[in-house]
Amino acid sequence: MLNWKKIGWLVCMGMLCLALVAVVSARVAAANNYPDNMPPRPDKEEEEINQTTPTPSPIQDEWPDIDITLPQYAMVNSNKLLASSYVPDVSKIEGTYNMMFDTAALPHLEALIQDLRDNGFGVYVGGAYRSYSYQKQRFDGKCYNIALEMGIEGKEIWLLPEYQLAVAEAKKYTMEPGASEHQLGLAVDLYDKQYVAQNYDHMNQRFYEYLDSICANYGFIKRYPTRKLLLTGWDEPWHYRYVGVEAATFIMNNKLCYEEFYAHYVPDFEY
Ligand SMILES: [Zn+2]
Repeated sequence: MLNWKKIGWLVCMGMLCLALVAVVSARVAAANNYPDNMPPRPDKEEEEINQTTPTPSPIQDEWPDIDITLPQYAMVNSNKLLASSYVPDVSKIEGTYNMMFDTAALPHLEALIQDLRDNGFGVYVGGAYRSYSYQKQRFDGKCYNIALEMGIEGKEIWLLPEYQLAVAEAKKYTMEPGASEHQLGLAVDLYDKQYVAQNYDHMNQRFYEYLDSICANYGFIKRYPTRKLLLTGWDEPWHYRYVGVEAATFIMNNKLCYEEFYAHYVPDFEY
């Protein structure tokens, strides 16, 4: 006996399968005949980009031919401390109250400041050469104040084990003695004269945009840009460092931080 219900169900399923095959075939055909006047498919566009974009020449070919052992290229950071006995030859920066800078590099700094002034900016030199002992004094003061804020009490609190917590915290705000480039005499903190607080977001961005565009002409780099914080461990966008025109031009053009540049010449340097 024929089961009409079953036959009807099989016919329906068969028709559904035929319909599905027809739809899929039409899709495949459409994809293979993609018209030329239509916008390119994303995968096609990618293929074309890969074919037409020339492979950039290796950046290594353009690295300046320098002697990284010269004092102007000295690397100083919290992993590479300067000796307490390191004292550079410094002279007073004109127009400042006893701010000192490396004597040989001083004319370049003064020319940079003059350029800013010629372009309508007031310039305030907030920091320049700092001796090891002065940096130590600053750092110790910061540790002590943080320890007090943490509630650490006692006669000689710096001898207590918990004081190390304050020391670790202080390193986030003030460089430990020997770790500051200011001891080299080649670093300077530059501000627009109008600045009121050490908050970069509220500082005159036109001042820093212009300064960043010209600093390499005088041999200076922006040493601790915020975008490189993970590599340098430090965020100080007003701090500029003299390294000479050749290195500075390469660093600023390629948006490098000094650690990245230095590592190219000193392969076993880790940062
Ligand atoms: Zn600084």
